[in-house]
Amino acid sequence: MSLKGKNALVTGSTSGIGLAMARGFAAAGANVMLNGLGDAAEIEAIRAGVEKEFGVKALYHGANMLKPEEIRAMVGEAETKLGSVDILVCNAGIQFVSPVEDFPDEKWEQIIGINLSSVFYAIKAAVPGMKKRGGGRIINLSSAHSLVASPFKSAYVAAKHGVAGLTKTVALELAQAKITVNAIAPGYVWTPLVERQIPDTMKARNMTEEEVKKNVLLAAQPTKEFVTVEQVAGLAVYLASEAAASITGTTISMDGGWTAA
Ligand code: NAD
Repeated sequence: MSLKGKNALVTGSTSGIGLAMARGFAAAGANVMLNGLGDAAEIEAIRAGVEKEFGVKALYHGANMLKPEEIRAMVGEAETKLGSVDILVCNAGIQFVSPVEDFPDEKWEQIIGINLSSVFYAIKAAVPGMKKRGGGRIINLSSAHSLVASPFKSAYVAAKHGVAGLTKTVALELAQAKITVNAIAPGYVWTPLVERQIPDTMKARNMTEEEVKKNVLLAAQPTKEFVTVEQVAGLAVYLASEAAASITGTTISMDGGWTAA
């Protein structure tokens, strides 16, 4: 599934699923622009590593997904320095776990900003270029939590349901522009995002780490196995390919059967 000659921008790709998708695109021959937070030296090592391993151009832009003007600047820089954004992946996301009555206002605002509003701003900035060049691929990382809820994740579940609605709406608007818009809805993928929510879940539910993994995280996942970042990357590469030209406006679950129940 070659993506040679294509340029991909992946938000939140300094870690976890985003990094695996960027590596997947690069392995398929696409140039990539990485984005995300983290230690500058570590990010530079990741960027240089992608370039060396896959023989493609790999750039990095540090846009904060809470800042629309920085998102616009990032899309602009990708278009200038890579030549286009053919594949836009809106992946950056954070989590916070708390009962709704204690949920900090600023965490609500941050999660809606990073997990939902940044998707809108990135799409809005990238679509004119895609239209001009006659096509494109937009892939949003939603979640099983775009289809079902879990307690103590009010902001995350609200944002992810929002991403599902945004995906459908934009897909309809762009249906005749050869731009597909889809969401990938993973169940629990073993990444730093999941690892970080274990202590708060232990507190909120009064459980040990093993109990959280078994009785909370994998309780919902019938396979009883975490999804891997490579599996998500494989689906993203497929959605970016020619073979997926007729798939648009949909949310594809990769959740070990979670939302079948
Ligand atoms: P992660 O924590 O490993 O990576 C998140 C990325 O987003 C990092 O690169 C981080 O730097 C970046 N980021 C966070 N805040 C940012 C900001 N303000 N500006 C720019 N970048 C920012 O998380 P992950 O598990 O790889 O999650 C990636 C996406 O997949 C998220 O949207 C998440 O909701 C979704 N998802 C994850 C899982 C899972 O189980 N891990 C399941 C379903 C959906």
